[in-house]
Amino acid sequence: LILCPMNNKMKNIEIFNESKNYMPGGVNSPVRAYKDVDVTPPVIKKGEGAYLYDEDDNKYLDLVGAWGPMILGHCDKDVVDAIKSTAENAIAFGGTTELELKLAKHICTTVDNMEMVRMVNSGTEATMSAARLARGFTGRNKIVKFAGCYHGHFDGFLVSAGSGVLTEGIPGSKGVPEEIIKNTIVAQFNDIENIRYIFEKYGEEIAGVIIEPVSGNMGVVPSEPEFLRELDNLCKKYGALLIFDEVMTGFRVAYKGAQSIYGINPDLITMAKIMGGGLPCGAYGGRRDIMEYLSPVGPVYQAGTMSGNPIVMSAGYATVKKLYENPSYYDYIENLAIKLQKGVEEIAKEKGLPIVVNRFKSMMTIFFNEEGKVKNYDDAKKCDTDLYAKFFKHMISNGIYMSPSQFEAMFLSVKHTEGDIDKFLDIMRKM
Ligand code: PMP
Repeated sequence: LILCPMNNKMKNIEIFNESKNYMPGGVNSPVRAYKDVDVTPPVIKKGEGAYLYDEDDNKYLDLVGAWGPMILGHCDKDVVDAIKSTAENAIAFGGTTELELKLAKHICTTVDNMEMVRMVNSGTEATMSAARLARGFTGRNKIVKFAGCYHGHFDGFLVSAGSGVLTEGIPGSKGVPEEIIKNTIVAQFNDIENIRYIFEKYGEEIAGVIIEPVSGNMGVVPSEPEFLRELDNLCKKYGALLIFDEVMTGFRVAYKGAQSIYGINPDLITMAKIMGGGLPCGAYGGRRDIMEYLSPVGPVYQAGTMSGNPIVMSAGYATVKKLYENPSYYDYIENLAIKLQKGVEEIAKEKGLPIVVNRFKSMMTIFFNEEGKVKNYDDAKKCDTDLYAKFFKHMISNGIYMSPSQFEAMFLSVKHTEGDIDKFLDIMRKM
């Protein structure tokens, strides 16, 4: 299918086709190729507030928000100014700057359970490094992850769950040796009995448990509070570290992340996306005694030429500072998300569409699901991807830019308005 929603120019298609000669699939990250929905992706040239513009001058209402970071909207003036003024003097040194201190201190003093932090360059690096640190600190090898949670493309986390109660690691990608993932245990999300069983069987060998407290990577699926509490208890009982992957939820579901809503104190937290203001970034942090196990203080090695890059630090600082100073942003975005959820549910009822909307604060997913609930990965896998593809094609060809897969979160920003939500709903109603 060829996509030219608002006019019949061909620049998008020309650029994308040529890109395929030089980059596998024409992209630098697979989801961007729109393979499952059989649509040529728009080639984006500009972002402004809640809107995107492609090379054919089509305008889209954006509900992807760069997969999370753009909570202030595209090209927020304060963030752009910070990037510009830093770039005048400081592009990269691979050395110490005060900007690193500014962002690190701001995060550690405003987010709970972050006594110290290490900056890296992506969410993948953050989770990979947190796993190494957990192993180094505990002297144990096994890491537990949950089916349907995504923690980046690090070998040890590219493990998909089988349908059994407990799945020993099965690689989710070619090129991941079984020896590497034999220390990864896949547990069932929101299943207390399953995680108890895993701890009874392997408790003394488990270095850490990593979880998205609100998963956004099987679509939005929040943890049930009692499940997280039991997980926390089990980690404490067996001396395993609890790692909250807040790459998506940090500074998004609340300034202080999902941990502040559930009232749980993880040992380590991973972050990325919003904390870099849209530039390549990541961070992991937590308890001081654990963080001081990192090189150069401790024996766990982890490094990065670009880590703490001045431009990234300044964009991140401008973003989190603005969020910190404007707590009302969170209610504003959540209210838009509530309006969107209600509207979508009404349309689903009117049209008899099998839709379940999972929403946690301003993160939400529209699932096409006959059974009426999505609480874990098995439920998510039962969703109707063909119907979603039909929905997606209708929306994008009418100027609504959303994820080409339903197993992702939709993100709103402070630049979205009630009028934008109405626009989305009007277009959906015409499906
Ligand atoms: N953890 C979570 C929860 C994520 O959502 C993602 C990416 N969407 C990652 C880790 C990996 O981050 P990155 O793509 O920056 O490597």
